[in-house]
Amino acid sequence: MKKRALLSVSDKSQLVEFATELDKLGYELVSTGGTLKKLQSAGLPAISISEVTNFDEIMDGRVKTLHPNVHAGLLAKRDDESHLQQLEERDISPIDIVVVNLYPFKQTIEQEGVTEEQAIENIDIGGPTMLRSAAKNFQAVTVIVDPADYMPAVEQLKSGNSSVEFRKQLAAKVFRHTANYDAMIGNYFTTITEQQDPETYTATYEKVQSLRYGENPHQKAAFYKEPIVKGASLANAKQLHGKELSYNNIQDANAALEIVLEFSEPAAVAVKHMNPCGVGIGQTISQAYAKAYEADPVSIFGGIVALNREVDAETANQLKEIFLEIVIAPSFSEEAIEILTVKPNIRLLETPIETATSNDKKVVSVLGGLLVQDKDFGTITADDVTIPTERKPDEEELAELLFAWKVVKHVKSNAIVVAKGDQTLGVGAGQMNRVGAAAIALEQAGDKAKGAVMSSDAFFPMPDTVETAAKAGIKAIIQPGGSKRDQDSIDACNEHGIVMVFTGMRHFKH
Ligand code: 5GP
Repeated sequence: MKKRALLSVSDKSQLVEFATELDKLGYELVSTGGTLKKLQSAGLPAISISEVTNFDEIMDGRVKTLHPNVHAGLLAKRDDESHLQQLEERDISPIDIVVVNLYPFKQTIEQEGVTEEQAIENIDIGGPTMLRSAAKNFQAVTVIVDPADYMPAVEQLKSGNSSVEFRKQLAAKVFRHTANYDAMIGNYFTTITEQQDPETYTATYEKVQSLRYGENPHQKAAFYKEPIVKGASLANAKQLHGKELSYNNIQDANAALEIVLEFSEPAAVAVKHMNPCGVGIGQTISQAYAKAYEADPVSIFGGIVALNREVDAETANQLKEIFLEIVIAPSFSEEAIEILTVKPNIRLLETPIETATSNDKKVVSVLGGLLVQDKDFGTITADDVTIPTERKPDEEELAELLFAWKVVKHVKSNAIVVAKGDQTLGVGAGQMNRVGAAAIALEQAGDKAKGAVMSSDAFFPMPDTVETAAKAGIKAIIQPGGSKRDQDSIDACNEHGIVMVFTGMRHFKH
């Protein structure tokens, strides 16, 4: 009896080449509607699935292969006498190879203006069912869901059969694939029924690339993306120049991108190890970058810079003055590319610069699990704040404070930012006590702290940070408020003529 291969694919690339090899190897080809047509018109001796099921394809293809003759042929254990006998009694042939890829659900929902009906029609039912039957029975069945596996399979089949190791790997791939496929459908319905929150989170990711290593050379790593990403994202970025991105590059560039997205005016953000070391806004992108650079000319070295406007020649000339790992911007002018690509090691990346309309959840791993939360999209305007101190801020001071507030949101806690005008002067990040973070930010700012403002990601449990700020000449402080001992900090501010602004919103970032 001839061995059987069942082919039913939506993506018909390389189908004929693969089926030709299977035919040469002596397999009988069985196939469904469109796949059958394609094989027959290439002159291959394929037969219709209806000859196996004795049943027509019905309901516009909704029911094609969902039939016991198919699934018994796939699921029969070949070393089980009773299974084989049951096949024989019913005149069912075993199926040895299954080649299926699914209705293009993702490509369908990605299309602009797609209707719910179109999405639903692109939910494959028979395909995953065959894949799962075949994968469960990998001891006997070679199951292929990815055209990239066609030729490796042919190589193996040439020696009589594929190895059980190979079939097991293919089975694992199938279950990963069908799990992802269903998760994508799940997410689609979650979205259209507006039930998106951390409680309905389902992870679906596709690999973008393997990375050379992770945070350190002894850690393996890969980069995954959500199936559909629009807007600012490293997964969407086009690399114009430089070496491949590393794991740390992606994390840092992402941090820079998230900060620069806070601003609508021309802004530049320099990041080191996930924290901003310089942020500036200006009339032009060149001005903004100059401010970000001058904020801390030492730390920016080897850093990552994100800009929210096209990089022009002027800015490119400033950027090329020091060693930077990455510059990420919505675009680069031709001249800017010429100027920057003289440096072989700088990576230039273009990404759209509007907030990604992708998944708005933040996920972190913990031992044995994941934490999922909404991303911190919290923002504050001048209308949202309260001012408990005797001195009130003028419009300019309030703008400075709100600028410092936008930056401190993106600094690892405990976080303190010192800023003047539209430029940071000092950043205290990731300290185990708040007054320590303030001391670091103030030391960085040096004499420039006189007449500057300060932001704090969380409230002051005691007045020591205000005292430290007063000594350095800080004139105004923005912080959430809400401590039992707020009054102590307010009193300290009043004593030194400092303005205190409460946002009522905390921005812990752990
Ligand atoms: P064809 O182009 O050969 O007509 O259809 C191939 C597609 O049909 C494949 O993506 C395969 O997964 C899918 N398919 C196979 N059997 C069935 C079935 O019984 N029901 C549904 N809905 N899809 C099927």
